[in-house]
Amino acid sequence: MSYDNRRIHLIPQLDLLDDRTRSGLLRASKIFPLKVNSYVLENLIDWDAAPDDPIYRLVFPHQDMLTEEADHALTALETGALAAEDAAARLVEIRDTMNPHPADQTSNIPILDGMQIEGIQHKYRETVLYFPKQGQTCHAYCAFCFRWPQFIETSAPKFESKDNARLLAYLRGNPHISDLLLTGGDPMVMNARRLAALLDPLLDPSLAHVSTIRIGSKSLTYWPYRFLTDPDADALLDLFKRLADGGKHIAFMAHINHWREIEPEPVQAAIARLRQAGVTIRSQAPLIRRVNDNADTWRRLWSRQVELGIQPYYMFVERDTGATQYFGVTLAEAHRIYKGAISSVSGLARTARGPVMSTSAGKVQILGPMTVNGQKALALTMLQSRNPDTVHDPFLAKYSQEATWIDQLEPFDPVDTFPFGSKKGAA
Ligand SMILES: *Cc1c(COP(=O)(O)O)cnc(C)c1O
Ligand code: SF4
Repeated sequence: MSYDNRRIHLIPQLDLLDDRTRSGLLRASKIFPLKVNSYVLENLIDWDAAPDDPIYRLVFPHQDMLTEEADHALTALETGALAAEDAAARLVEIRDTMNPHPADQTSNIPILDGMQIEGIQHKYRETVLYFPKQGQTCHAYCAFCFRWPQFIETSAPKFESKDNARLLAYLRGNPHISDLLLTGGDPMVMNARRLAALLDPLLDPSLAHVSTIRIGSKSLTYWPYRFLTDPDADALLDLFKRLADGGKHIAFMAHINHWREIEPEPVQAAIARLRQAGVTIRSQAPLIRRVNDNADTWRRLWSRQVELGIQPYYMFVERDTGATQYFGVTLAEAHRIYKGAISSVSGLARTARGPVMSTSAGKVQILGPMTVNGQKALALTMLQSRNPDTVHDPFLAKYSQEATWIDQLEPFDPVDTFPFGSKKGAA
């Protein structure tokens, strides 16, 4: 059973919440997308601890996620008697006040035969992101998701493609692309037949240079039965095996925020099946206040993942969109949490790189605070960049206790610019 914004009042567990939490949830879900299934409700959330349970916070929007501006606008909407379509338009305006498309992703859309290819982003030389149309939803939604405008109406454009042929033509014409990254939403909501239509053509010799297929997904922990008992689970695993046998590296990029998500038995069975099919599983997740903002949660998450055969990959800084003021963690604190966690796990779990901001210029890692000539600085580096020459050159910003994103930092030396060429951090 699955519930969305329209069916939220049917969720049986809502009765377990106190009145304030419940009414705040109903209000916030006018602005933010909501989707949750019975598996998450019954197996992952600890209702005795809700609303402070981390998995409750992961899934359910909360009154305090509304900015003051959005809150006032919503109150005015509730008290004014607007016609239904005017009210819907007003809700879109309210969402638009919350930076629905961060990090200027629209500038990464490539051109083929003089036309922009919709549903593709090509930012770093080796890797292309693809947003297949049928993959633009998830088994459940995360309250903090930076892709939230994919799921609810704002005036920002949606990323989606119905046209695999244009993707394949683009890949064929660009021999330096080694990685195709399917993203969404969650591409694992697509059926095996559609996925095969998209991925089998990559076995053609003309696409041999696309050696890695990455799949960004949260299905492993939101719906592990995708790989166990769904009607096309076997067909999906056969597809992975066919691609792996054909020489492709299938990298399943599992989004996992909390170690509790990987405790249920079906998740572990799904991990085992994916690995048997020749899939490697890496994990990545943002650092979210109220969900996983302490070192111990990450220590346990990473060490458990290594036990289960999952390689920790990225710890992200929450992007500056939607309810950042509610979920965001300062860069200084993010570094403390990362350091606390990474220093307490074995080397095999230290493959997790972080904390990383995915900015319009590239992926910026926070190396940590240091003192230069008696002044406090923050050391950073680029793990990915539009300009590969700047990768892994360390650079310094003035230390800031409050900054939550690169655009709030300034170069340490006022005559300097950041490696991406600006005085201020690019958003
Ligand atoms: C993170 C990311 C990638 C992949 O980067 P890797 O460092 O290779 O993991 C590709 N495209 C975009 C837009 C990204 O944000
Ligand atoms: S699963 Fe991923 S894309 Fe879907 S809501 Fe969560 S963070 Fe967003």
